[in-house]
Amino acid sequence: MKEERMDCPSGHGKMVLRKAKKPMTFRGVKIIVPIEQYRCTVCGVEAGTVNQTARIQKTIADAYRRAVNLLTGEEIVEKRRRLSLTQEALAKRMNVGIASIKRWEGGTIQSKSMDHALRIALEGQSIGDSCTGNRAFSIPRIKLVLKEFESILGKHILKKNDKMLFAAKYLWYADMVAHRETGESMTGATYAALPYGPQLNNYKDLIEDIMKAGESKAEALSPEEKRIITRIALKFPEERMAYDAAHKENIWKRQPNGAIIPYTDSAELAGL
Ligand SMILES: [Zn+2]
Repeated sequence: MKEERMDCPSGHGKMVLRKAKKPMTFRGVKIIVPIEQYRCTVCGVEAGTVNQTARIQKTIADAYRRAVNLLTGEEIVEKRRRLSLTQEALAKRMNVGIASIKRWEGGTIQSKSMDHALRIALEGQSIGDSCTGNRAFSIPRIKLVLKEFESILGKHILKKNDKMLFAAKYLWYADMVAHRETGESMTGATYAALPYGPQLNNYKDLIEDIMKAGESKAEALSPEEKRIITRIALKFPEERMAYDAAHKENIWKRQPNGAIIPYTDSAELAGL
């Protein structure tokens, strides 16, 4: 490494390199950022070199990623090299552009769902199940999620003969937003792009079982899942609003009739 040297701007001669841990708040999270600064022992003035200034953004991003349990740039590079993958090969494996890999390794903070995809790709597998959103399909959970919506909306959205026209839209938003924000869907359900919007795949075969299912058999909703459901319910207090919003989503529009809407598109959700 090249020796860096800095002189005090007030003419006190060579400054000393000092390592410090600087506490700061970034995106609402308290982090400790290791920094290196030159300090004059005579007047106490401090300065960073150009290299240090350039590194600081990455240092902050990595301290943050460590604090919230996302892979750091270094960890991504290290895991990728262990698998002898080029940036391009990793990008292909994840179905993202090479620019994304470069940014994440360089210090741009990845979303939770992309972090999940990174971990899957770096563990030597192909991308996680884009049909079920990385969760085992559970009919009792569908019932549980719909019940939670009903309790907030104060009305029934799961009705006998409406082909889940509205219930499916709330459910789809819940699964997609959860996938985007937690890396996992809520119910493991697969959705198809139908002319009247995103619909539970094979809903005709499922509807009876959903009506009959006992939600008490489902894994309880996490606080984060409850928050997501509340947000959706408050955004769409009327069933028609969820229906209309879903019809504006590009990730539904661009699929041919009957095709599966992949969870990997959840990052492009626009309505929430
Ligand atoms: Zn000085």
